Amino acid sequence: MTSKYWSDLVAQLDPYVPGEQPNIANLVKLNTNENPFGPSPRVLEAIRAATGDNLRLYPPPDADRLKAAIAACHGVAVAQVFVGNGSDEVLAHVFQAFFSGRRDILFPDITYSFYPVYCGLYRIGYRAVPLAEDFTLAVADYRGENGGIIFPNPNAPTGVALPLGAVESLVAANGDSVVVVDEAYVDFGAESAIALVDRHPNLLVVQTLSKSRSLAGLRVGFAIGHPVLIEGLERVKNSFNSYPLDQLAIAGAVASFEDDAYFQQMRSLVIDNREQLRQALTARGFASLPSSANFLFTRHPDFGGAELAARLRDRGVVVRHFNKERIHPFLRITVGTAEQQQRLLSALDDILA
Ligand SMILES: *Cc1c(COP(=O)(O)O)cnc(C)c1O
Repeated sequence: MTSKYWSDLVAQLDPYVPGEQPNIANLVKLNTNENPFGPSPRVLEAIRAATGDNLRLYPPPDADRLKAAIAACHGVAVAQVFVGNGSDEVLAHVFQAFFSGRRDILFPDITYSFYPVYCGLYRIGYRAVPLAEDFTLAVADYRGENGGIIFPNPNAPTGVALPLGAVESLVAANGDSVVVVDEAYVDFGAESAIALVDRHPNLLVVQTLSKSRSLAGLRVGFAIGHPVLIEGLERVKNSFNSYPLDQLAIAGAVASFEDDAYFQQMRSLVIDNREQLRQALTARGFASLPSSANFLFTRHPDFGGAELAARLRDRGVVVRHFNKERIHPFLRITVGTAEQQQRLLSALDDILA
């Protein structure tokens, strides 16, 4: 479809397609890497407490309370923290602020599929760097002139993590460009590069409250890096939307950082369930990539990914399948509750029989 009213840019866009949010009763939804466990009760209480007459006022434009909570949690200065309406919005600002388009940026050939979409929106050229056969990222492939580098760690949709030492050599070898580490899943078992930001002014780390803090519906993400990078992001943000985080989001997000015990408990539950799911899938003939995330990327020798996904859907279980080169045999299955995983496994037993 196109229209004479559209700008040339809009006509050329190739928008991101999110995993579906089907409205079907009793569905086992393991397709978008949401947390199966709810947010902290203290978060819900804080949101309720923030709901009142004060909603007629604009929120604080810099979400100072939230920046302070994030800075305290990660041991950095407030001037090293940027916040946005989900990490997708933070990432969009990152592309506009640091990836000039004068040179191609680099990201893995198998990665978060929003990156090429932002390149289209901001007219930035890119080169997709192939991952190794085993889906690991080789730092040596990210040398030479480039307009910036971005990759998730752990990677999506593979779940494979890059050790911190390798992240640091990649950052150090690319001092003339900004290296962005998208840590949407880092709390499920990878090492955060936040530990490196004081040593590397070209490093920006992006995280989200959507996955490990179970707040995908609240839309809060953040970035940590050198104050000069944060100032660059603030310039874009203040040219786009002064109030990306509403009062309820700020209140809920602050409460999440204040309830560390709940956070630690929930993320280890997810990690335990992931290992149980891995074993159960292995027992059924699946081979899963090593995952440091809240999902498994897994394939069965006797079935194609598309076929398995369709047959699971017929049985009320949705998982994610990517109809793309190299990864079409795989399913990306989000870690669920024990009951959800049991329903997935029963459906698989039925299909494999
Ligand atoms: C989920 C995800 C995001 C987006 O998270 P939001 O904060 O919900 O926008 C960003 N990057 C990767 C790799 C993700 O999987």
